Amino acid sequence: MSNIHDLKYLQDNIQDLKDQGVYRQLPVLEGENGAEIILNGKSVINLSSNNYLGFANHPKLKEAAVKAVEKYGVGAGAVRTIVGNMDIHEELEVLLAEFKREEAAMVFQSGFNCNAGVIQAITGKGDLIISDELNHASIIDGVKLSKADKAIFKHSDMADLRRVLEEKRKDYNNVLIITDGVFSMDGDLAKLPEIVELAEEFEALTYVDDAHGSGVLGECGRGTVDHFGLHGRVDFCIGTLSKGIGVIGGYCAGKQVMKEWLSHRGRPILFSTALPPAAVMPIMEALKLLMSTSEYTDRLWSNAKFFKEKLGKLGFNTGESETPITPVIIGDEAKSMEFSRKLLENGVYVSAIVFPTVPKGTGRVRCMVTAGHSEEQLSKAVDVFEKVGKEMGII
Ligand SMILES: *Cc1c(COP(=O)(O)O)cnc(C)c1O
Repeated sequence: MSNIHDLKYLQDNIQDLKDQGVYRQLPVLEGENGAEIILNGKSVINLSSNNYLGFANHPKLKEAAVKAVEKYGVGAGAVRTIVGNMDIHEELEVLLAEFKREEAAMVFQSGFNCNAGVIQAITGKGDLIISDELNHASIIDGVKLSKADKAIFKHSDMADLRRVLEEKRKDYNNVLIITDGVFSMDGDLAKLPEIVELAEEFEALTYVDDAHGSGVLGECGRGTVDHFGLHGRVDFCIGTLSKGIGVIGGYCAGKQVMKEWLSHRGRPILFSTALPPAAVMPIMEALKLLMSTSEYTDRLWSNAKFFKEKLGKLGFNTGESETPITPVIIGDEAKSMEFSRKLLENGVYVSAIVFPTVPKGTGRVRCMVTAGHSEEQLSKAVDVFEKVGKEMGII
């Protein structure tokens, strides 16, 4: 007789994953998440992190974290509305607003919980949310938490967005259009200028989640809204502090009144402990570094260009990316996984991304080139791609 505590239903689910060939172990990293890492005990070139600027292991950020611990301790000790709101949280938000060229910014504990908290706070019954079909999982979950009605438009399809607006706008109070700024699987940009035009034509609000644009696009990494020169026309500018910025956290930048509202109705602000000091101070250091020089973003883009061109010349299909995200599209799911496995055997770590994360038949490995890579490391990675690609008949 099986015991209820054996969790047989989960064991069955796991067996299903194994039968489908999609069960996996978590890779284990020893040490920093840099350009070269120790993975499962072996030194490899890392083309899988979101550490775009090398800030996750930057000496100045590490120093800031140590100082923060010495002065403020390791935890904020409470939610911000009780007694967890330290002077450094306030300072960070002033700096972020300056960086984003917006009136104000509200910081969250992660990009994920920012979406989970903000969307439900700024929409309600009688409103409509219109969301790009490829939006990030945290947006999908955030939308589920809202009492507003929902509609989806085809990925970056402006005719379809117009169709939804024409059909539905009149039936609702507020309409909120939500899109990723950069789509992380293909590296394509949202058609923000068109989205903003349509939103203004139909008196809708706009919400851009720029997780992969922050620290990457725009002047010194200010993001997609800055890249397109749309300041003041995107109402809710979401970003993460966990990717390009290298630490942890999320934020919503925009109007002061947005911030005031979120400090009353943003549930992660009210019910989850504030960011720890050792996160807050290195984030500030990162923002100051970014605003003082374009060195980091320049190196990111030149590294990405170098790598993309080399792979393209070898005959790999690198898709339609407009950002440093470099997909190498293989097609077949099992072949994509095998390609990733063989690259790793040869000293290059690039994770495979397959259905259901991307559509069936578009399996790929996704290369994340960073400012932290040396040309030598990237050249070495290209050589490995060539060797394995030829062995497997991909090129
Ligand atoms: C990564 C990502 C998030 C989550 O950010 P975290 O800070 O890692 O929680 C949210 N939205 C998008 C579009 C992302 O790519």
